This record gives sequence, structure tokens and C-alpha cells, in this order.
Amino acid sequence: MRLLVTGGAGFIGSTYVRDLLDGRYAGSPQDVRVTVLDALTYAGSLAGLPVGDPRLTFVEGDVCDARLLADLLPGHDAVVHFAAESHVDRSLENAAPFVMTNVVGTQTLLEACRHAGVERVVHVSTDEVYGSIPYGSWTEETPLAPNSPYSASKAASDLFARAYWRTHKVAVSVTRCCNNYGPYQFVEKVIPLFVTNLIDGGDVPLYGDGHHVREWLHVADHCRAIHLVLTQGRAGEVYNIGGGTELTNLQLTERLLELCGAGWERVRRVPDRKAHDERYSLDSTKIRQELGFEPEISFEQGIAAVVDWYRENRRWWQKGRGRQSSPGRDGGSEPDGIVPVPERPTAEHRA
Ligand code: NAD
Repeated sequence: MRLLVTGGAGFIGSTYVRDLLDGRYAGSPQDVRVTVLDALTYAGSLAGLPVGDPRLTFVEGDVCDARLLADLLPGHDAVVHFAAESHVDRSLENAAPFVMTNVVGTQTLLEACRHAGVERVVHVSTDEVYGSIPYGSWTEETPLAPNSPYSASKAASDLFARAYWRTHKVAVSVTRCCNNYGPYQFVEKVIPLFVTNLIDGGDVPLYGDGHHVREWLHVADHCRAIHLVLTQGRAGEVYNIGGGTELTNLQLTERLLELCGAGWERVRRVPDRKAHDERYSLDSTKIRQELGFEPEISFEQGIAAVVDWYRENRRWWQKGRGRQSSPGRDGGSEPDGIVPVPERPTAEHRA
């Protein structure tokens, strides 16, 4: 099996590639070969990829580059599409790169898959496309109502996936996952930002009164679900992937303070994000019943392991901090700073 993984140098894509090549997915073929296509934006880093593995080929390039895709795709059986501009706050400052990568990039990739006759595609999307929900949970049938330029660009890309299935029979499935946490997450996102600030003795910036609710899933569980959809999911379908752990940002902050041995005096209230979604909550019945997916890593055990990982991998996140202030493509990822693949919570750590 030859697989093209876009955005495979990012947080979630690199976890998927590591775990796939480590043979962590039941029934994955022995002869798997992976091509990672990644533009190495500020968010991309080769440090999380097993770059010496002969089964892995890395190609630095842009998903908006139709000519590159036309050269690269033939011979690949399947594509898992992670590449995206992924940080909501950046989309509030400048939405243009989000439209380019997330919308134009996805359409360009789907068009290339169509022409290359790729048999299977998974488009990795987000629960944020549904907007905000005061109570209850979203099913896959809930209408899309994105509120940020980021989520609007992801919703548009989901609709292109639908259209390429309906119009051209490109065999694409869409996954919509809740918030992920885990090792190698770029330092601008809330958990690594708070943990690394606390490790360094600094403050953490909490939006508004911290009442916003997010659902959390360990990145390894997310990637396992994506692989299930790739290998057993139905084309043309959407699958929600929830973790079942809903926390207010205040509750999350409290847990991170405890794990880092810090007190509330380290929390600095900052003005709320514009149009900040109040609550996210996914109904994951479909993927549980149809594909037998269950999260394996409890939030309690997973978050403790992640805090330990950031403690032990200062060199990696300090390099990320150096790239943090420069939105857009700055080519800032060099292969040095490679750190060991993180310890996964062991069986006794699991839920
Ligand atoms: P990330 O920002 O860590 O990684 C994105 C990767 O895409 C980077 O390696 C970057 O270099 C690459 N990239 C960006 N623009 C590109 C382009 N034009 N061409 C090629 N590569 C490009 O993001 P992530 O958190 O790993 O998210 C991966 C996917 O999962 C995204 O599609 C995101 O919308 C989705 N998602 C993320 C979460 C989450 O909590 N992080 C939750 C649900 C869904």
C-alpha cells in the first residue's frame, strides 16, 4: 500500500505517520510505504517524523501546486489529507492563507486525486465547522455554521470533498474531530502554550472568564480513528470523532496548574477572542457503531503524560517558540532538534 500524507510534518499528521510505520494499527499492511507532502510552514517540523525509515519519503511542497501533485500522486493507493492552516487566532488576523491552503489546496488535491485515479481519500476536518452548541451534541447531519475564518475555510473544504464524491466519485470520507492534545503540538495552541509557560515560570493567558467548553481527545486515538475510516469507512460519508471529555477552559487550566505544581496567581485574564464559540460537543455514535471506534487513552492519564513530554523535550518546543511570531510560510523547520518518539501511555494508563 502506498499512502500520500499531506501535512505529515504537523502535529496530527506526524503522529499518524509514526504510528502507522510503528505497526500500531490493527490490520495495516506490512508493505506500507508513505510519502509525506508538507510545505514546512511555521507549524511543520521534521522532528516528529521517522526520517531515516526507508519506507518514508519526504517531499517539501504545497498542496496548492497542481503540477507537483500531478507528478507525485500516480502510484499512490490512498491519500490522508491533514495539511491546513490550523490556528483560529491567526485566521482572525489574516484569513487569506486559510482560504488558500484549506480551500484551494483541498480542491487542488481532490482534482489531482481524480485524475490520478487514487482509490481512497480521507479529508481530515474539525468539529468547529458546526459552530457552537449550547446543549446536546452535533451529529453528522447537523448543518454547518462556522463562526471563524478558520472554521469557514474547513467547512468549505468539507463541501468540496462532498462535491468531488457526488460529482466525480472520488472516494473521499470526511472526519470531524474534537480538540486534540498530545506530544509535538505546536506551542501556540492552548495546552502546549500553557504547559511550556508554566514550566518556564511564566503566566498563562486565559480568554475571558474561561467558561468556554471544549471536547478533548488524545492525538493517538484521533489517528487510530482516521486509519479506521481510511480502511473500513464508507466513501462519501462524514464521521464525527469525539473524545467524550468535555472541559471548560477553567477546568483545563486547573488541571494544567496542578500537573505543573503552579497556582492561580499564574493565570492572567485576557480579553475574549472575537466570536469565541461557547461550546463544542460531538455525537460519535456513528463511528462507534459502524467502525467500532473507542478512545483508549483517558484524559487524566494522557494529559499527565503530555505534560511530562513537554518537560522532557524543551529543545523541541523552544525551537518552535522561535518560529511562533511569524505567521505564514517562513520555511523555518530544519531537521535538527530531532527528539525521541514520545512514550505512549502504557496499558495501565489507559481508560
Ligand atoms: P498543524 O498546524 O500542526 O500542521 C499542519 C501541517 O500542514 C504543517 O506541517 C504545515 O507545514 C502543513 N501545511 C500547511 N500549509 C500547507 C500547504 N499549503 N501545503 C502543504 N503542507 C502545508 O495542524 P494539526 O493540528 O496537525 O491539524 C492537522 C489537521 O487536523 C488540520 O486539517 C486541522 O484542521 C485538523 N484538526 C485539528 C485538530 C486539533 O485539535 N489540532 C482537531 C480537529 C481537526
